[in-house]
Parts: sequence; structure tokens; C-alpha cells
Amino acid sequence: MDIGFIGLGEMGAGMVANILKAGHQVRVWNRSPERAQPLADAGAQVVATPAEAFAGDAVFSMLADDAAMREVFNATLLENAARGLIHVNMATISVTLAEELASAHAARGIEYVAAPVLGRADVAAAGKLTIVAAGPAESIDRVQPLFDAMGQKTWRIGSLPQQANVIKLAANFMLAAAVESLGEAATLVTGHGVAMQDFIDVITSGIFPGPVYQGYGNAIAEQRYEPALFKARLGLKDVRLALEAADAVMTPMPVASVVRDSLMDAVAHGDGDKDFAVLGEVSARRAAR
Ligand code: NAP
Repeated sequence: MDIGFIGLGEMGAGMVANILKAGHQVRVWNRSPERAQPLADAGAQVVATPAEAFAGDAVFSMLADDAAMREVFNATLLENAARGLIHVNMATISVTLAEELASAHAARGIEYVAAPVLGRADVAAAGKLTIVAAGPAESIDRVQPLFDAMGQKTWRIGSLPQQANVIKLAANFMLAAAVESLGEAATLVTGHGVAMQDFIDVITSGIFPGPVYQGYGNAIAEQRYEPALFKARLGLKDVRLALEAADAVMTPMPVASVVRDSLMDAVAHGDGDKDFAVLGEVSARRAAR
């Protein structure tokens, strides 16, 4: 297929590499052009403007946040796009913006699919993302081969794009709560002289197995926060968006409020570009360690 891809950050770069490997033609655009060079070497066509990428059979976007989406997918870009184009937005954005984008695209005859992903940049590079897709069924059918190139499983949630986004926000809230609790528990045991790695080994081999507790637990035990696979500032964005979505349906999420403050603490201390596991550092700092 003839594909456009907008946003070649940690996630987008790996996703494009897998689409290229699957034999598709890809036009790529990134605000900082130097990030496109490795993909050009792998066969992508680098274009100079988002409008040049926003064409073909389908266009995927993987930008940072709502602000980036609003800047790039402005009225002019949508107005000049071909009718019938499918735009698949895979970034983690707000429920409100997902609703706005769905109606703005529909008004211009462009198909809009929300397909946020579970899995970090290493999972994206391995083509093993879990994709949560919502939007028009025929559009999802057409882009399924691309999802298959990027992910291990696509969950189809229905026709309302924003429902895929709220699932992603709920999942990331749970991730944030898990990492916060790991950080607090690890700080508790070390206060009593226990080696942090011993604690992580005990809990992950028994009651808390799996990639979240193992991956983040080991990172916290080793105080390994760089290179970031998932940046704390992006985690903060997601917990804020979960709280905003909760506010819209009058749903108290007290744990989310606590984790938001911990992530703000990390970002305020200059650790926004470090890994989410830096929540372990926040807990340690609160205990003056
Ligand atoms: P990233 O490495 O920070 O990349 C962000 C991308 O957005 C870059 O292409 C960046 O361009 C672009 N961008 C930011 N502001 C922009 C603006 N105003 N105008 C145009 N482009 C702009 O982030 P990432 O880790 O790839 O994450 C991308 C999305 O995936 C986010 O929504 C994130 O929440 C979600 N996600 C991330 C993970 C993860 O583990 N990393 C996992 C699942 C989902 P430049 O290169 O010019 O800065």
C-alpha cells in the first residue's frame, strides 16, 4: 500500500521500520528532519511537509500529544486532503480531541480511526504492539495489514474512535499506579535495610510476575532511568488525560491524582525525559534517601 507516516519519535521510527519490512511504500514526515534519515536509508521517502505525507491509501500519525496533533492536523491540512483518505492516529491523546478529530475528519470526507497502542518503543521496534482500534469497520479492514506489520494483536473496540483512547488512558493509569506502588514499596523495604533487588526478585517471581513489575521493578532496583523507553513527561501527560476523561463523567480517581503529583515531582526535578521508572527516585527523595 501507499502509506504516509507522520511523527518519527521513539515509537514512530520502529513502527515505520516494520511497515517498510512488510513491503509497503512509505512517505515519512517529522518536525526534526534528522530523525527521518535512518528510515530513508531503509527505503522510506522523506517529505518536507505534513501535507505531502497526508496522501495515498492511508496515513498513520504518532505525534507526542494533543498540542502536536492540533498543530499538525489543522484545518488547512484536512481541507486539502483527498476525500476517502484514511487517517489512523496511534498517539495517546485526549478523549475530547479524539471526538473533535473524528467530526473534523468526517466533515471533510476523511475516514478517522483511533488506534492507540500498548507497548513501549522496544515492543514497537519488535513489531509486537497491542493495538486498540476504533472507527469505521471498513477502514479498519483496509489498514489491518499495516496493523499486522506493527503489532501482535489488534483489538477492535467499535465505531467510536474516542473509546479506543479511553481504554489506552485507563491502561496507562494502571501502569502509572503500578510503578508508583513499586517505588513506594521499594523505598519502604530499603528503609529497613533490605536490598532492593532482593525485594523485586521475591515479588516478581511469585505474586507479581509479568512485564510491568519485572521491567520497572528491575529498573528501579538498578536506578536505571536512562535511556528512557517511556518518558516520565509522557506518563504525566497520560495520567492528566485520564483525570480529564474521569472528570467528564464525574468519576473520582484518587490514586490517579496521587500519581499525577509524583510524576509532576519528577518533571519539576528535571527528570521528565527519564524513564517512567524514575517514580522510584521520587519515592526515595520523599524519604530523604
Ligand atoms: P517522542 O519520542 O517524544 O516523539 C514525539 C514525536 O512527536 C516526534 O516525532 C516529535 O517531533 C513530534 N512532535 C512533538 N511536538 C510536535 C509539534 N508541536 N509539531 C510536530 N511534531 C511534534 O514520543 P514517543 O515515545 O514516540 O510517543 C509518541 C506517542 O506514542 C505519544 O502519544 C505517547 O504517549 C505514545 N506512546 C508512547 C509509548 C512509549 O513507551 N514511548 C508507548 C505507547 C504509546 P520531533 O522529533 O521534532 O521532536
